[in-house]
Amino acid sequence: FTDNETLEKLVRELNAGGANVALGVLDDFINWGRSNSLWPLTFATSCCGIEFMALGAARYDMARFGFEVARASPRQADMIMVCGTITNKMAPVLKRLYDQMPDPKYVVAVGGCAVSGGPFKKSYHVVNGVDKVLPVDVYIPGCPPRPEAFYYGMMQLQRKVKIEKFFGGVNRKEPKPKEETEK
Ligand code: SF4
Repeated sequence: FTDNETLEKLVRELNAGGANVALGVLDDFINWGRSNSLWPLTFATSCCGIEFMALGAARYDMARFGFEVARASPRQADMIMVCGTITNKMAPVLKRLYDQMPDPKYVVAVGGCAVSGGPFKKSYHVVNGVDKVLPVDVYIPGCPPRPEAFYYGMMQLQRKVKIEKFFGGVNRKEPKPKEETEK
């Protein structure tokens, strides 16, 4: 297949022929491939980013799970792992990076800062959780989370991708980001 348009055309033809079983098998097959090649955007703002680097090194070796192709461009990334503190000034930049990623795309909040503001929760300049800005798929708590926790979170994301309906629903329905609450 060359692009999503070709895939969608094939789906329409198969649907017309009542081939739901074939579609289910194709869904499983494509999702198996997608879930084992989730490419993260290279993105880190503070200490949790150091743990993200540890994932790529030999001891934890994220290549075993197909996550090793960290991309410098959002246009080539499947997911963004938000590693570190997000300040109010950084939030619009993060949103822009997310908007530049192609669908389907995923967000993983890594560490206390990304989950809820962490130790800086009461600071005037810190976003109290990245879900105020982006729709988060998986939360990985910790300060910082150990690489094993990263993997557990990533495996949850893989599970989520595996049961998605790829055909006819490539652009999954994303939850709306929560409204920024008053501090
Ligand atoms: Fe640093 Fe802890 Fe925040 Fe991670 S959660 S960025 S380790 S302060």
